[in-house]
Amino acid sequence: GVYDPGLDARAQQQMQLVEDLHRLLAPGSPSAEELQVYFQPQVSLGTNTVIGAEALVRWHHPRLGVVEPLRFIDLVEQNGLMSRLTARVVHEAVAQCLRWQRAGHDLRVSVNLSAGCLVQPDLLEVLDDVLAGELPPQRMVLEMTETSLMLDPEVSMRTMRAIADRGFAISIDDYGTGYSSLSYLNDLPACELKIDRSFVRRLLDDERTRDIVIGTIELAHRLGMRIVAEGVEDQDTLQALHEIGCDEAQGYLHSRPLPLEQFAAWLERRTTG
Ligand code: C2E
Ligand code: CA
Ligand code: CA
Ligand code: CA
Repeated sequence: GVYDPGLDARAQQQMQLVEDLHRLLAPGSPSAEELQVYFQPQVSLGTNTVIGAEALVRWHHPRLGVVEPLRFIDLVEQNGLMSRLTARVVHEAVAQCLRWQRAGHDLRVSVNLSAGCLVQPDLLEVLDDVLAGELPPQRMVLEMTETSLMLDPEVSMRTMRAIADRGFAISIDDYGTGYSSLSYLNDLPACELKIDRSFVRRLLDDERTRDIVIGTIELAHRLGMRIVAEGVEDQDTLQALHEIGCDEAQGYLHSRPLPLEQFAAWLERRTTG
């Protein structure tokens, strides 16, 4: 480790995290237990059945315990390690989705893409590996935000088209939080739109928010997209979303993101009643 008494504790810890990430994500490093992929279910509001799950990475650090993605995703990106992290998450997402399928659950699986991913050729290689496997590409959803397209809009858009041409599904994540531009909705080959939690949270208390959500749902439906509400924590919000035509919900109300085994068990319990 590097020790510089001049650095404060936080900077010191960031440096340690970067060093750990290089070790964890080094080529050929054994897929360490430290980095785990959790899954959170997505439930249809019409049928109340589980139809998908989002892969969310967790870092079980030997000394710091569970490190949330918001604390290390930027470090991964800044240190040029994102392609490798994404490759791992994609690999695990595919493996689990096939496992659920073998257990009789035909779910989709969603993976988050960062801004950096969209401008690097590695991503398409990883996706070509998926195509060579058993999972039909339309069962894999790739989520990206409007802001992640802004790093290099032209190249990112080309990557998105290449992804769609391969048959994968594309989702616009955190919708409404960036400088949402209607031209993205027009240009992106997306089939899903995720309404950000900040809108979902205010849905019942704020009439303007409710009107924005209603308008967004109508617009997305006209464009042939399905709508997933993020961060649904209570039954009243779920009911309101259903009434205004939202298609699916994801949030703590149904389940927190769960480790592999717990997710598989949750799925069994939920479907056998
Ligand atoms: P996101 O893609 O918007 O993921 C949704 C976040 O909301 C997750 O946080 C999830 O745990 C949390 N969440 C879900 N339901 C609820 C709810 O009902 N209430 C509340 N308060 N929160 C809820 P998480 O797992 O901490 O991930 C944070 C962000 O880190 C993600 O936001 C995503 O942008 C990023 N991230 C996570 N995994 C990956 C990954 O594998 N690759 C990349 N590039 N980014 C990732
Ligand atoms: Ca997401
Ligand atoms: Ca989101
Ligand atoms: Ca978010």
